[in-house]
Amino acid sequence: MNKTFSENIKPAGIYVHIPFCKIRCTYCDFYTLTNETRIDAFVESLCKEIELRKDEIKEPVKTVYFGGGTPSRLSEHHFNKIFDSLYQNFKIEPTSEITVEANPDDLSDEYVEMLARLPVNRLSIGIQSFDDNELKFLSRRHSAIQAINAVKRCQMNGFSNISIDLMYGLPNQTTKIWEQNLKQATSLGIQHLSAYHLIYEEKTRMYSMLKAGKIEPVVEEVSTAMFSMLIDWMKSHNFIHYEISAFGKEGYFSRHNTSYWKGNKYIGLGPAAHSFDGENRTWNVASLNRYIKGVEEGKPEQNSENLSSDEKYNEFILTGLRTMWGVDLNELKILFGEKIYIYCIENADKYLNRQLLTIEGNNLKLTREGIFISDGIMSDLMRV
Ligand code: SF4
Repeated sequence: MNKTFSENIKPAGIYVHIPFCKIRCTYCDFYTLTNETRIDAFVESLCKEIELRKDEIKEPVKTVYFGGGTPSRLSEHHFNKIFDSLYQNFKIEPTSEITVEANPDDLSDEYVEMLARLPVNRLSIGIQSFDDNELKFLSRRHSAIQAINAVKRCQMNGFSNISIDLMYGLPNQTTKIWEQNLKQATSLGIQHLSAYHLIYEEKTRMYSMLKAGKIEPVVEEVSTAMFSMLIDWMKSHNFIHYEISAFGKEGYFSRHNTSYWKGNKYIGLGPAAHSFDGENRTWNVASLNRYIKGVEEGKPEQNSENLSSDEKYNEFILTGLRTMWGVDLNELKILFGEKIYIYCIENADKYLNRQLLTIEGNNLKLTREGIFISDGIMSDLMRV
């Protein structure tokens, strides 16, 4: 008999979406507002939502992640209110990983000292580039030197688990500039790097510029060369490539994201935040007004979908293959049955023969060559 996803559930995580940014970056399609006048009202509603949804997570919570938007737009007063509410309503373990995303120009001496007084033990700093021209092009608020100083300030204030985000594949970006970015990143003594190729999301300014012919995307060979450079550079600096976009020093992988990729349960709080209970996906309305109204009325506005067995299998493949642990074929067989297991192996066969996939122990994994065409491999293994 197949186990259900719920029976397979491990410890839970909490995601808190802070939907405010000082300005909008040209490439960003996240739900966020540049009008910050309603931060206080949002925090009030967030604390009420926590109270209303406390019964959704009874398991011990091992990770809390403040994402956005820009969580570093919150004051100490806001954070204290939110933490009080989280600790009162959920079983957050003392050893939990608690991450706050921050923008470099918010990380003044006073702000970092304030963060150090909170239960926060991991920072994820949205640097994106150490090249001032690129930062300007992306409409980031900080300069390269501000980013460097922000990381150093966090380290001086005792933060010893710091991740930074970088972007590559920007129009006009050369492999030389990308190499400089990587060199600067690893010289800072950080523990983790997330590196994302630029994606032209519809409804962004970057997309409009592309459509108007004002910018040209990098050619595929340059993208591939940059990704290859990224993998080699990080490996030579003792970072483990544990997920397609993520590199961590031993013991410093993002526990929160790893938990997502392993299919664990999580609750998403705040507008546009997604939750997963092992069977269903729900997501809060992507509108601050409607979010506040729903919470005030005692019924947060949400949509949900019940995943079909094929959709669960597809997610299992997608999330598993993204990571260095790969897809656990034993678990796949237990969760989805012999027929789906055979479907997976048969579709993997041509990639196994070309050494783009490999089986180590009972795990199906991408090889280094396979990572470069991971999208195609994943879609071939998925059920339509
Ligand atoms: S700071 Fe982050 S969330 Fe805000 S607009 Fe820029 S990329 Fe988007």
